[in-house]
Amino acid sequence: MKSIDLLITEAKQLIYFSKTDATHGNDTWRLKAITNGYVAIEDGHVVHIGSEDEVLPLVQIDSGTVTIDAHDKVVTPGLVDSHTHPVFHQTREHEFEMRVQGKSYEEIAAAGGGIRSSVRGVREASKEELKSVVRKRLDRFLSVGTTTIEAKSGYGLSLEDEVKSLEVIRELNDEHSLEMIPTFLGAHEVPTEYREKRDEYIQLVIKEMIPYVAENGLAEFCDIFCEQGVYTVSEARRILSAAREAGLRIKLHADQLHLTGATRLATELQAVSADHLECLDDEGIQAMASSKTIAGLLPGAVFFLGSHRYPPARKLLDAGTRVCLATDFNPGSSMTQSLPLMMTLGCLFMKMTPEEALMASTIFGAASICREEVIGNLLPGYRADVVLWDADDYRQIPYYYGVNLVNTVIKKGKVVFKIDHGQN
Ligand SMILES: [Zn+2]
Repeated sequence: MKSIDLLITEAKQLIYFSKTDATHGNDTWRLKAITNGYVAIEDGHVVHIGSEDEVLPLVQIDSGTVTIDAHDKVVTPGLVDSHTHPVFHQTREHEFEMRVQGKSYEEIAAAGGGIRSSVRGVREASKEELKSVVRKRLDRFLSVGTTTIEAKSGYGLSLEDEVKSLEVIRELNDEHSLEMIPTFLGAHEVPTEYREKRDEYIQLVIKEMIPYVAENGLAEFCDIFCEQGVYTVSEARRILSAAREAGLRIKLHADQLHLTGATRLATELQAVSADHLECLDDEGIQAMASSKTIAGLLPGAVFFLGSHRYPPARKLLDAGTRVCLATDFNPGSSMTQSLPLMMTLGCLFMKMTPEEALMASTIFGAASICREEVIGNLLPGYRADVVLWDADDYRQIPYYYGVNLVNTVIKKGKVVFKIDHGQN
């Protein structure tokens, strides 16, 4: 018998998810907790979980096996952040200050700020300059317990600059422990130089960008910002249909600031996820419930814009829709990388239970990037992406807020982050 690489022992609470019978046509998961739990890891995968008596007879341990004592820790799957915009150059704290002083996000955008200011930044930066700022953000994701993110382009808005952004993601994916799943978001905004000829830009996205991105394997998903004043539902249908034909899977920014019907388009096109949904109506909730499309909810963007219009998580969950939580990390409307904070907001303002919030940040986040059989869980066979929390109970993860309970992060069976409490 081959000896295992890593053994986590005596976890105060070991959390994993097991599948129950389908409800509303969707398979569902239930949270399970093992007291004094053990996790055995080999070749980057979980091979056994259970009590000491269940796990130890099945594994061989030798001097090469790393052992981590978790007797005062909660152990969960690594968090999966299924909606982020990490490839930007400059931060926009001056806009934050303007907002605090009363300017609206729309007024700031009209004055040259907003997404367009990040577009200027990405276009002016070299690939290496972009990589060096993005790399630091990846370190921070790991430090707050996130082991995989979905990462969008969308601040380039030209073939060259969208490709540059996606190459930053691809190259850093090879160089960094954080795993990134790339999404092409060339239809994030209409770039300034195409304001008077938007159809030409849509043609550029459909005829040049999507084929190039798909042929070169630069993205798995294609996303669009379908919103009043940005892209209409019929434009979104054209762009996403082209993406689907090119072999990309589909996501949408849908019904965020206005009810446009984008969520219904998402279900019609069998999008993997429809994200935001702050303005979703009951008809849209029904459409989601009778589809396989996952609801990607982003409470950070509601909170950070000072709004109170949180998406209808409770109604979606009660209707049987699968729900994930994500940070929407971006320099304008959600400058956070913390999924635990999203869990807190999800519980407080969207009436999700701590169990639902944790599943929304792990297994359903994984489902939202088509990886629910690979990551987001600790059953044998899953990738050994694990977080050890300085906590006694998983419900403390959303209960504490504004502090980081992460102690140790394991990615593919290797420790990639460990908190330094200092010695005392
Ligand atoms: Zn977004």
